[in-house]
Amino acid sequence: MQLQENIPLAPLTTFRIGGPARFFVEAQSAGDVQQAATFAQSKNLPLFVLGGGSNLVVADNGWPGLVLKVAILGIEQRLGHNDEGKTIFDAGAGEPWDRFVSQAVMAQCAGVECLSGIPGSVGGTPVQNVGAYGQEVAQTIESVEVFDLKDGQVRELCPEACGFHYRSSLFNTSERGRFVILRVAYALTPGGEPHLAYADLQRHFEGRETRPNLAETREAVRHIRARKGMLIVAGDPDSQSAGSFFKNPVLSESQYADLERRASAKGLTLPSYPGLTAQSLENSRKVSAAWLVEKSGFARGYGFGHVGISSKHALAIVNRGEATAAEVLALKDQIQHRVEEIWGVHLEPEPVMLGF
Ligand SMILES: Cc1cc2nc3c(=O)[nH]c(=O)nc-3n(C[C@H](O)[C@H](O)[C@H](O)COP(=O)(O)OP(=O)(O)OC[C@H]3O[C@@H](n4cnc5c(N)ncnc54)[C@H](O)[C@@H]3O)c2cc1C
Repeated sequence: MQLQENIPLAPLTTFRIGGPARFFVEAQSAGDVQQAATFAQSKNLPLFVLGGGSNLVVADNGWPGLVLKVAILGIEQRLGHNDEGKTIFDAGAGEPWDRFVSQAVMAQCAGVECLSGIPGSVGGTPVQNVGAYGQEVAQTIESVEVFDLKDGQVRELCPEACGFHYRSSLFNTSERGRFVILRVAYALTPGGEPHLAYADLQRHFEGRETRPNLAETREAVRHIRARKGMLIVAGDPDSQSAGSFFKNPVLSESQYADLERRASAKGLTLPSYPGLTAQSLENSRKVSAAWLVEKSGFARGYGFGHVGISSKHALAIVNRGEATAAEVLALKDQIQHRVEEIWGVHLEPEPVMLGF
């Protein structure tokens, strides 16, 4: 384990914002994770686990404790199938997520093709139950291997134990900060058809006579994401972001009715989306946060000091160069305030805030 001091965190995030970590360690194995945890405990330092830094806003003053970057690599396809005929892939938490998706698609295994192009690491995906275009990792995760910081044990969590919901799991709610994810096993469908449930994807393939295969679906998803600034492309000014800054609100029946009333009073039609995982609210509806942001006066390309809204997607706050975390938070507050005032809906930020 190589301990480093005062390491700038901004270059380790997609937002490229924020101060340094007082201590920094890159862990290539479970043993490294254990040593880092022991070091943090012995010095009474707060520990933060870093993946690909793609869902993160780091405070301008940085982080006064230890940042543990998980760099455990390796993707293995197990021989044979499980009881349900699925092929199991074991992936190290430090593997780039999109490399894993590419490998699964090349092996003709379905289940994650719609999650192509999402930045970050394999280990980051269970944390907020990553999802896009009608798929989310809760549908394919077989198990998650973790290092438990509470007792120093390595254990395997089944999907039920992970408590997956829309953009949440026990890793970012009830047990936040307790587990370091070491590996994730995904159960994929060999020879399976691509999932083409979302309108964007259906439009992309409109007029085609043959059904697209997994590789074509992956390319289509990456193409659609690039158009929306949701793919990291070197040199694209809209790429310096943490992706969607707000979660799509999940509303109860009465909240939804109230929002619809407000929209129709303005002569507007409210777009809503099918939910994915079982939600705690019965008859709940997921509405578009991007729509709420745009209809509150924050158009694409909106500028605010060194930050702004992506010119391609209303939901992404972008760093236009030299931005500070304080500016990001000020814009976030402004958006939340206006959306609540006009639509009566509270927008919850999606990225993790570190050091505030
Ligand atoms: C352009 C862009 C597009 C995006 N599109 C999507 C999208 O379509 N859908 C979606 O769901 N998300 C999307 N995201 C958000 C982000 O990519 C995902 O949430 C991703 O899974 C985060 O992984 P990461 O490794 O970068 O995590 P980080 O940003 O490093 O960390 C995020 C959180 O996960 C925790 N964490 C990370 N790794 C581990 C680990 N090994 N063990 C324990 N905890 C860990 C961290 O402590 C932190 O709390 C997008 C982001 C960007 C920048």
